[in-house]
Amino acid sequence: MLLEKEDVLKSKLKEVFGYAQFRGNQEKIIRNVLAGNNTFVIMPTGAGKSMCYQLPALISEGVAIVISPLIALMKNQVDQMNAVGVNAKFLNSTLTKTEMNRVKQETLDGKVKLLYVAPESLTKEDNVTFLKDATISFVAIDEAHCISEWGHDFRPEYRRIRSIINQLGELPIIALTATATPKVQQDIQKNLQMEAADLYKSSFNRENLYYEVRPKQNSKKQLIKFIKEHKGESGIIYCLSRKKVEEIAEFLQVNDVKAAPYHAGLDSNIREKNQDDFLNEEVDVIVATIAFGMGIDKPDVRYVIHYNVPKSVEGYYQETGRSGRDGLDGKCIMFYSPGDISKLEKFNKDKSVQERENALILLQEMTSYAESAVCRRKQLLHYFGESFDDNCGNCDNCVRPKESFEGEDHILTALMAVKQTDERFAISHLGDVIRGADTQYVKSYKHHELEVYGKGNTETAEFWKSVLRQALLHEFLIKDIDNIGVLKLTGKGDEFILNPANIRLTKDHDYNDLGEEEEPEKQAAPSKAYDENLFEQLKSLRRQVAKDKGFPPYVIFQDPSLQEMATTYPTTREELERVSGVGKGKVEKFGDAFINTIKEYVEENEIMTATDVLIKTSVNKSKLKIYIINQVDQLTDLEEIAENQDISMESLLNEIENIIYSGTKLNLDYYIDQVLDDEKQDDLYEYFMNAESDDIGDALSDEYNQDYSEEEIRLMRIKFMSEYAN
Ligand code: ADP
Ligand code: ZN
Repeated sequence: MLLEKEDVLKSKLKEVFGYAQFRGNQEKIIRNVLAGNNTFVIMPTGAGKSMCYQLPALISEGVAIVISPLIALMKNQVDQMNAVGVNAKFLNSTLTKTEMNRVKQETLDGKVKLLYVAPESLTKEDNVTFLKDATISFVAIDEAHCISEWGHDFRPEYRRIRSIINQLGELPIIALTATATPKVQQDIQKNLQMEAADLYKSSFNRENLYYEVRPKQNSKKQLIKFIKEHKGESGIIYCLSRKKVEEIAEFLQVNDVKAAPYHAGLDSNIREKNQDDFLNEEVDVIVATIAFGMGIDKPDVRYVIHYNVPKSVEGYYQETGRSGRDGLDGKCIMFYSPGDISKLEKFNKDKSVQERENALILLQEMTSYAESAVCRRKQLLHYFGESFDDNCGNCDNCVRPKESFEGEDHILTALMAVKQTDERFAISHLGDVIRGADTQYVKSYKHHELEVYGKGNTETAEFWKSVLRQALLHEFLIKDIDNIGVLKLTGKGDEFILNPANIRLTKDHDYNDLGEEEEPEKQAAPSKAYDENLFEQLKSLRRQVAKDKGFPPYVIFQDPSLQEMATTYPTTREELERVSGVGKGKVEKFGDAFINTIKEYVEENEIMTATDVLIKTSVNKSKLKIYIINQVDQLTDLEEIAENQDISMESLLNEIENIIYSGTKLNLDYYIDQVLDDEKQDDLYEYFMNAESDDIGDALSDEYNQDYSEEEIRLMRIKFMSEYAN
């Protein structure tokens, strides 16, 4: 009987999917599902999770419900299933009412084997009613880590899945994820009430991937150098913001790299084209926010670069995992600066206290990963609850080891601190106790009376944190799963306290003091006398366009830009974009009319256009400007920027205005929102919308603006110009 079943499985695998063998745990998992047991699968990306529910769905009576968070992925899977002759359908918000009804009918008729459902559709009342009538074989929950706020893409709707399933009757569940720390794993099992489920966990180790963390210094130069060394190979560069994606993609293009941007803010046609170009190798490098890569499966991505620090180690591992799927080498490089971490912290400012704390802990894990000099692979696997004893030899810390030191006494001190504080505290407090910090918190627990207090007062807090983290990696300590952050002793730790032994530790990398980021610069445009006739024509065109669009003329183009046009006669979009003060956005919005006027003018007057008069690049910016742009990106308050650069607020605003007027978007909302309430902002907005010019003197003398300081008016002018003119 058993043998028979085995044969059925194997022959279905071959017949339907064309594979001769099961991979890893697949067969065991499939049998477990078919036996009607709850099953929990943790398997790295690409290992073949889908098969674990697809095959049992075919064999079982009724329809298998597959809950999956990504509509794009859903469609992909349904297409793939249909292509091998399996009737699979999906229910999600992209369907019309008629299509939805057809899917439901077909399901009730027993024709559908797999029904993919988005979590938000699952929770809809009429869908629940429909599912109650269907004959369901089992429920598969894909990307199950979405249930946990300790993972990297928490979906609140996922938390309701269990209660819905309960309404449908007693159904076996298979939950699957490619990423789960012990904490996340516990969350999933608790939330789905499947603590007793059979767990199948594969190793997360990706032997063919090389991990490296580099200080974020001259990072653009490093980027170009790396990419040129890997010419013709496919790579992904992850950035944090859409803006950064655009900037880096443009920077690479200017430097003759076949690169394209990808982020959620792009028009979907462009996004799809860029993705296809990458898949078809028209483009070598895709520069993306993490929105990219979820649904694609390009086997030969040779490198993944994190230009910005990711928000969690889970996210990082997932993203690096997109390289080397074919089993050949993949390089995973991350640029790290402590500044990036503070920036991420600021992003969380508006979240609830709980969410903020969670996010902070995830970030701290990221920091310690980056700063540690311990084998990267050991750290990563440990993070996901796997031990890895050796050094891997395939990461920066293994290839270029930092000097190590004898750490027996240090580890002992660290463990004693944990023990004497009754295993109830987190890393930073433990560090404080060891260092003998004189804080209220320490005193409130009377920890200054402990024997271990102040024992390590010759070392820094950072040093002790690093020792404690290494004690974790050596499994002398373990993270308490119910009290996030709290460290407890393991049996091995207790043993060490009784019988201390030699142990080598490493000092962390020091990424402070990186200095300022330099950018490769190119020549600025020379200024020239201009063609006054054309200039006048362009001005009148500007008036007309402004009127049509309902903006003041200065929003369209500033005079210096028109003068430059009247000097270089740009007759294509590319040429127009080279004009100072003209960004891509402006070319898109207003460019064609100007190009046409110039073309006509050039033809009429038989002018030779000098397209090579000037070359403006995307990196035509001075150091101070770059500093300001970076700082604003990091949401640094303007007072602080001014102070750091030792310039007055006024000079800072001057610089910012220059940046805006030369076509770079700067978002100062974080700062403006602090100094001006909504009403005042609206007021000043209104003024600039209707003003004849953007002159500050005019604005100040306007009766309407009596209540505002020059600084406030200038800030709002910057916001206004940045939003409308660029
Ligand atoms: P995951 O969801 O774990 O990231 P997928 O389910 O997308 O992985 O599977 C990854 C690839 O492995 C797919 O192309 C799939 O067809 C293939 N695959 C799955 N099972 C097998 C098998 N037993 N033999 C060969 N290839 C397999
Ligand atoms: Zn290593």
